[in-house]
This record gives sequence, C-alpha cells and structure tokens, in this order.
Amino acid sequence: MGKDRGLKMRIGIDIGGMTIKIGLVEGADIIARKVIETNSKSQTPEALIKNMAVATAELLQENNLAEDSSAKITVGIACPGTVDPAKGIVLYSNNIAWEDVPIVALFKKQMPAAVALANDADAAALGEVLYGAAAGKNNAILLTLGTGVGGGVIMNKKIFSGYMRGGCELGHTVIDRNGKLCTCGRRGCLEVYASATALMQAARKAAAEQASSLMNVFCRNDLSKLNGKIVFDAQKQGDMAAARVIDEYEENLSIGIANIVNIFRPEVVILGGGVSAQKEVLTEELQKRVAGMCFGAEHGDVPAIVTSQLGNDAGIIGAAHLID
Ligand SMILES: [Zn+2]
Repeated sequence: MGKDRGLKMRIGIDIGGMTIKIGLVEGADIIARKVIETNSKSQTPEALIKNMAVATAELLQENNLAEDSSAKITVGIACPGTVDPAKGIVLYSNNIAWEDVPIVALFKKQMPAAVALANDADAAALGEVLYGAAAGKNNAILLTLGTGVGGGVIMNKKIFSGYMRGGCELGHTVIDRNGKLCTCGRRGCLEVYASATALMQAARKAAAEQASSLMNVFCRNDLSKLNGKIVFDAQKQGDMAAARVIDEYEENLSIGIANIVNIFRPEVVILGGGVSAQKEVLTEELQKRVAGMCFGAEHGDVPAIVTSQLGNDAGIIGAAHLID
C-alpha cells in the first residue's frame, strides 16, 4: 500500500439493523471491508460506536494504514433514520433504537479523524451519482424499496435534505389520503404501498385467497417462503393473482415516482432495495406509466428510471465520499 502514501484514505461505514459494514474505499472501489454485528438492543450507543472505531482501526492496520496515515483518513457514516449532519447527531433511528446520539463526537473520541454523518439513503444516492447508476449526472433521486421506502435527493452532485433536518423523506409522501395507516402516523404514505414489505403483504394475501395461484405452487404452499422473485415469476407465467398484485404495486409506485419527478425533475430516478432486483422487468413498465403521469410529459423530458448499480455497497461508497 506504499504507493498510496499521501493519498487521502477513505472509510465508509454503513449502519444497518443487523450488521454494520465498514469499507476502505478508493474512488469507486472497496479495497477492504469488515462487518460487525449491530446488536444495538444489547449494548449502549457508546459501546457500539467504540466497536465501530475498533473495527475501523483494525481494518486500517490490516492494510498497513495505521498511525502514520491517520491524519489523512476521513470517515463517513451512513445511518438509517433522522440525522443532523451538521451537528453529527443521530436524532432518531427506529431500526437501531437510537435517540439523540452524538455519533460523530463519540467516534472521534475513539479515533482522531475527520468524520461526517448522513442518512443512509442519502449516502447511497451520493454513491450512485458519483460512481453508480447516475455516474456523470448531477441531479438524481434514489428510492430504496426495502423494508420501508427510503429517499435520497442529489442536486448538483450534493446531498439535498432541506434546511430543516429530516427532509426528503420521500417514502412519507401521501398517495392516498384515505389509505392504509403508516408507521409515521399518517395514512396512505408511499412507503405503505411501494416497500418490499408492502409487495410481499399484498402477495401473501392474494395467494391465500386464490388457492390455485402459481405463487402457492412456487413456494410449496408455505407462504412464509414467498419472496419477490416468486411473485414476478408467477406473473411472467400468466398467473392472474400475481399479475394483479404487481399491477397494483407498479401503479402505486408510479404515482409516487411521478410526484417526485414533478417536484425535482431529476436527470434520473434510481431504484434500490430488494424489489430493484427485477431490473428492466420493473423499470420498463414504470417508465411507461410514469410518462403518462408527469406534468408536461407530452413535451418530453421524463427522466430515465433505472436500478441501482452499486447495490448494497452504495451506502459504504457514498459515505466514504461525504467529505470532499
Ligand atoms: Zn408515513
């Protein structure tokens, strides 16, 4: 690693509900990585952040980047939930049950380095713009379709999260005012319809109601084994129940995307999270529907809808580049 002496070494840390992924990043490449368990319910935030710093120090040592280069190391941390990047505080994170944790200060206590913080979807969006699905673009929106629906907005290659903290929660924009109750307290949020969780709930219900559905055949009548791939596979083979579930899902997601397009008119909309594994099967259909919903679409200018290129690494890579 001697050739890199003098270069800035970047650490990207992506905190998840189950694991924390730490990567040593150079440009778009994660050249070494470490994973530790989150266990946020059985230890204090202080203890967990100390473990993160210890694992980071080990990763640097293993790559011969310990003491002599510590001044050149920058650390970016991506965390789910509402964060205050300016103050370096995690205000509230449901996934890891944290409230008002000064993560940047606590991390710096363990390791003297420049440390920055961002929401995880924001960091992933930055990663995709710098090195992934939106490389070469300046303005992009990322929607992660996973347990919930996360949103990241990049304007002029920078994360935009509003003036007040907690902005750009794109999953909590309402698409049906009389709709289902969301965990945030409102009804009809995009998240309630467009998350992977929502897709699976709808599919399980449809499969249970339609005994002859291929979805039941493909999961051998064990609906706990039903997954997104099975639902899309069943649809491809002409299964009506699966087709209805996916049609409803795509229509709701299209409404959400068109709303976002009408506000931001980005160059590209990137879909991440579990559902995005369907790639073109999903995006081609969404592209058609969204085109009909965008303001002034008949005059052109509907952004491309694409799927994530960096996948699960987007958060690490984006976090590593939070500090210029
Ligand atoms: Zn909501």
